[in-house]
Amino acid sequence: EILIEVKNVGLTYETNTKPIKAIENISFQMGKGEFLCLLGPSGCGKSTLLKIIAGYLKPTIGSCLMQGQPIQGPDWNRGVVFQSPTLYPWMSVRKNVEFGPKMKGFSKDKIEKLSQYFLEQVELSGYADKATFELSGGMKQRVALARALANQPKIILMDEPFGALDAFTRVNMQALIRKIWKENHSTMFMITHDIDEALSLGTRVMVMSKSPGKIEKEFHLDFTYT
Ligand code: ADP
Ligand code: ADP
Repeated sequence: EILIEVKNVGLTYETNTKPIKAIENISFQMGKGEFLCLLGPSGCGKSTLLKIIAGYLKPTIGSCLMQGQPIQGPDWNRGVVFQSPTLYPWMSVRKNVEFGPKMKGFSKDKIEKLSQYFLEQVELSGYADKATFELSGGMKQRVALARALANQPKIILMDEPFGALDAFTRVNMQALIRKIWKENHSTMFMITHDIDEALSLGTRVMVMSKSPGKIEKEFHLDFTYT
């Protein structure tokens, strides 16, 4: 089942000096359940591509569809996690995670169930009432992940989610993300600098060439949730 279709997408940033062509002629499809890892040199346009799929940026050329519908802007179908999580610092961990479900107008009961379930998945049940400014970097990233998951998106887009974490925390986070991907049968799109990480987590690895980024290579690994 095809979830995302990127068709001949290019994006040029208009700046007050010269235009910057960030990506060019990118086409690929993503199926439900895939874990796609995107590699490429710094500045090649990975974040730009992620922001287009998220709906934060409109491509200058080409189109991007989700389940056959044009992506018009950010919506609940796509959850995004960035390198430095932007949490509401004074709100509790639980309130951060419940924010999206509340906005969606879910019942109190459903909101509680969702936050409980996903806080458990990211192993933060014991921290639900702490304010997020009190947490370590890895814990904040787990809150960001739980917050994205609680919105029940069809795909999670992650831009170097472990990039700012120390090596030990990163290894733990990799294991956690793999577990979450399996347990929820999620679809994941992740930008990383780390080839080993891409190969160990991804069911598929795409490599972009230097700016303006194009898809240079692609590897399909065994697709399995086990
Ligand atoms: P990556 O994520 O691979 O590091 P980016 O997508 O962040 O690459 O950037 C691709 C290119 O577009 C770079 O040359 C970068 O400087 C430029 N760029 C990114 N964002 C903007 C922006 N908002 N305005 C102008 N240029 C940008
Ligand atoms: P990353 O490589 O992790 O995407 P960057 O340091 O390239 O991070 O970019 C950080 C932020 O700055 C992004 O939001 C990007 O869009 C913006 N940015 C990057 N390059 C430029 C640029 N040349 N002009 C304006 N904004 C930029």
